[in-house]
Amino acid sequence: MSTFNASELANPGVRQLQPYQAGKPVTELQRELGLTKVVKLASNENPLGLSSKVKQALAAELADLPRYPDANGYYLKSRLAELHGVDIKQITLGNGSNDVLEILARTFVGPEHQVVFSQHAFVVYPLVTQAIGATPVAVPAKDYGHDLDAMLAAINEKTRMVFIANPNNPTGTFLTTAELKAFVEKVPEHVIVVLDEAYYEYVPEAERAPSTDWVAEHSNLVVSRTFSKAYGLAGLRAGYAVSHVDVADLMNRIRQPFNMNSLSLKAAEVVLDDHDYIQRSVEINRQGMQQLTEFCEQQGLNYIPSYGNFLTIEVGDDAAELYQQLLHEGVIVRPVAGYQLPRHLRVSIGLPEENDAFIQAMKKLRG
Ligand SMILES: *Cc1c(COP(=O)(O)O)cnc(C)c1O
Repeated sequence: MSTFNASELANPGVRQLQPYQAGKPVTELQRELGLTKVVKLASNENPLGLSSKVKQALAAELADLPRYPDANGYYLKSRLAELHGVDIKQITLGNGSNDVLEILARTFVGPEHQVVFSQHAFVVYPLVTQAIGATPVAVPAKDYGHDLDAMLAAINEKTRMVFIANPNNPTGTFLTTAELKAFVEKVPEHVIVVLDEAYYEYVPEAERAPSTDWVAEHSNLVVSRTFSKAYGLAGLRAGYAVSHVDVADLMNRIRQPFNMNSLSLKAAEVVLDDHDYIQRSVEINRQGMQQLTEFCEQQGLNYIPSYGNFLTIEVGDDAAELYQQLLHEGVIVRPVAGYQLPRHLRVSIGLPEENDAFIQAMKKLRG
């Protein structure tokens, strides 16, 4: 009889892990419930569809697919370096910014270290921390957002990394430029500060922190961005980090050489200059946010004011049941009980008619 026990052989950190819970795919719900019309407002995706400029560029790129991608992503990195006013050697590309976050943790964090992040923070932070066998330190939130003073106080000589998402997911909370800057200045140099700005483009321009400029003065700061949200390329997997050259050099040693494929490299390069698409993405989000917040106010539902492309709504003790009922109405939203928000549901901003499908389903279920 075999005594093989895979779990006993696994790294201790991995044994304790719960896999990442993604938003339910449309086709899965269609399969399960035999529904045809399904609206997905569960993964903070761009509801506009693919940029038509990207579509054209991708069609032209298909012929090159038998070749390996450019392992250095030269064209995309050059464009990003220009955009941020940094050296090309300061850019690290990722298979989505998730990949960047994981590369960072694997580059700098060992089992003897602690990693600090906020309560209600993006689940990938504890995931990558635990996978390494390092100790996660979740600091209680303040008004659903980061309590930066408490996070500073949680830093000690064992701390090697701090994760900050701004705006934060799943709460949509936002730290001002002054708050962030003061924080970055106080973090000791033996701690890598990872500033995850996945929703940066949705922040009104006047309120955006010039975070990539700070890397010049703060060598321990790493800023990550993604093409999955406002740029509408979630399915292609494209993200990047801006960091000190030496940080990028170390990250590059463990990065898979072809972690961005030919199509995602091309798409990211093209969409960066599709200003009209970005503008429309941001505008449709602003309108949808208004549509959903007005609905909440009419219904007397509390919500967490959001700087992202989603709204986290306090629906009450039956959030899990309401999530299931919404599925039966063909509306997929995101339960956030796993983020210690058992009374909330997170709703991504969709097209006006998609938001309305959610609103109508809520009215039907809630009266
Ligand atoms: C969506 C999101 C990301 C981006 O993930 P990708 O891997 O780039 O698709 C990163 N951080 C946060 C906080 C997010 O919500």
